[in-house]
Amino acid sequence: MTAVPRTLPLRLTPIPGEALDSWLEALARRMNTPLGGVLSHFGFPSRGRSGNHLRDIPPDWTIALRDHETAAIAHATGVAPAVITAMTLAFYDQRALSIDLERRHVNRRVLWGRGRGSRFCPDCLTTSGGRWQLAWRLGWAFACTLHHRLLADNCPNCDQVQRERPRSGKAVPPPSICGNLRAHPDGPPTGGCGFDLTQTRTLQLPARHPALKAQQ
Ligand SMILES: [Zn+2]
Ligand SMILES: [Zn+2]
Repeated sequence: MTAVPRTLPLRLTPIPGEALDSWLEALARRMNTPLGGVLSHFGFPSRGRSGNHLRDIPPDWTIALRDHETAAIAHATGVAPAVITAMTLAFYDQRALSIDLERRHVNRRVLWGRGRGSRFCPDCLTTSGGRWQLAWRLGWAFACTLHHRLLADNCPNCDQVQRERPRSGKAVPPPSICGNLRAHPDGPPTGGCGFDLTQTRTLQLPARHPALKAQQ
């Protein structure tokens, strides 16, 4: 990455607690640009089928950014570097989880790390217009204290975890829609699941439920 990134034509403030991938997707939607267009705006190399780690492309940009990547995003978006770092799991490194910063992997067996993927609160997705919380990626996140319900583990349609794999850079990412490929062995291999994740049902808890207290 050598060229100075261009400034994006519009601004979009991250919502409190938002994950980096969610914000980048919201930016792409706001600009009606494929996600890959936003990343190339920052000068990020595009992901290939293989050999990504050799080119220092992480499995997921939300895990950790190099300093020059943070600076590129800050320059292009006008958002402060510290705010950008706080949208990555590196924000929790050595507190809630442990990240192999060389390879940019979350160590699954240490603290509250989960390898990849994110739980989600369907109500939060509804009220935020499809913005995802970073904390949903932590192993300890199991309930939404705002909506008094358990977080969803999987898409109820394809039964897969969300955000285990990077989203396609070729499309404008739709909000709250499951982008996983259909896992059913008889299903078509392409086309994606397409389920509206805001319609996911999870257990509702009474406001004073001990699980909500524990989550707080
Ligand atoms: Zn919620
Ligand atoms: Zn699905």
